[in-house]
Amino acid sequence: MSQYWSAVVHGLTPYVPGEQPRLPNLIKLNTNENPYGPSPKVLEALREQVADSLKLYPDPTSAALRQAIAQACGVTVAQVFVGNGSDEVLAHTFQALLNHEGPLLYPDITYSFYPVYCGLYGVTGREVPLDEQFRIRIDDYIQATDAGAVIFPNPNAPTGIPLPLSEIERLLKARPDMPVVVDEAYVDFGAESAIKLVPHYPNLLVVHTLSKSRSLAGLRAGYAIGNVALIEALNRVKDSFNSYPLDRFAQAGAAAAMADTAYFEHTRQAVIRTREHLVAGLNAMGFEVLPSAANFVFARHTQRDGADLTAALRARSIIVRHFKNPARIAPFMRITIGTDEQCQALLDALKEILA
Ligand SMILES: *Cc1c(COP(=O)(O)O)cnc(C)c1O
Repeated sequence: MSQYWSAVVHGLTPYVPGEQPRLPNLIKLNTNENPYGPSPKVLEALREQVADSLKLYPDPTSAALRQAIAQACGVTVAQVFVGNGSDEVLAHTFQALLNHEGPLLYPDITYSFYPVYCGLYGVTGREVPLDEQFRIRIDDYIQATDAGAVIFPNPNAPTGIPLPLSEIERLLKARPDMPVVVDEAYVDFGAESAIKLVPHYPNLLVVHTLSKSRSLAGLRAGYAIGNVALIEALNRVKDSFNSYPLDRFAQAGAAAAMADTAYFEHTRQAVIRTREHLVAGLNAMGFEVLPSAANFVFARHTQRDGADLTAALRARSIIVRHFKNPARIAPFMRITIGTDEQCQALLDALKEILA
């Protein structure tokens, strides 16, 4: 606290990212990074940039990257907005599209950055409870006639549970009056993308990240796909904030990652396979695992507490994520899908802990 702080800073409750400890032999399954490195073509593209001139500003419009994204997603360049990580894309979205008179609806158990952006931008948020199976009930959103906008991840985080596209379309059809933002950070690991609905619904914005399925958490690149009017709103905010959010490395590396479809397919299938294997192993040990379409699973043991198991794993140099709040999810651990070897080490450690 300081007398020099502005009132808005006094009122902030910042997001707390998962820890990034530097310990030897650590098995890091806590922040949903991809266990595989990025495409070798990304590294090639980065090396070419070193030879290029860093004394010049990067392209403020990220045209080549947006072209690569448009190509990969089957949309036009004008329907693509890019940002410094999807967190920045989301931040601009809150300011540009989600600040209305009616409250912004999001699930009570979801990505914990949403309430943080509400605090930063003065958006009134309203939590909508998941049902007893931890699922999003789309009717709750349809029926909230006073709502100004909606945001949720699909698959949801930290549950990993996907929502069928037909449910999202039902919302878009019923509520053309409000913007609907679908945060598809994990969609490539088994859910159906809403991008194909973009041409039909001018109120739909779909947000993606290159941090998870493209293995580029360290590069910081994310994007949004939507109707050109929504993209224009994001550009207006971006150009009032930072004209050059993506540096030359991020633009070149991200474009190379989007273009390497074969590598993308190979690594995401590997993650999906390992997930199915891990789920079977956890089930065999008495865990209940929520049905995941993401690169993590949300699991609770019938006998042991989530905090307790997380601490015991940590003592064996394996870190997973535990959320104390809300109380309903305290029994769970969120476990990122690692390599087969890492997941086997996790299962071995749990076997020991539970013995
Ligand atoms: C990881 C994540 C993001 C942010 O990704 P970055 O592009 O790394 O900022 C956004 N939304 C959800 C739900 C996430 O889990």
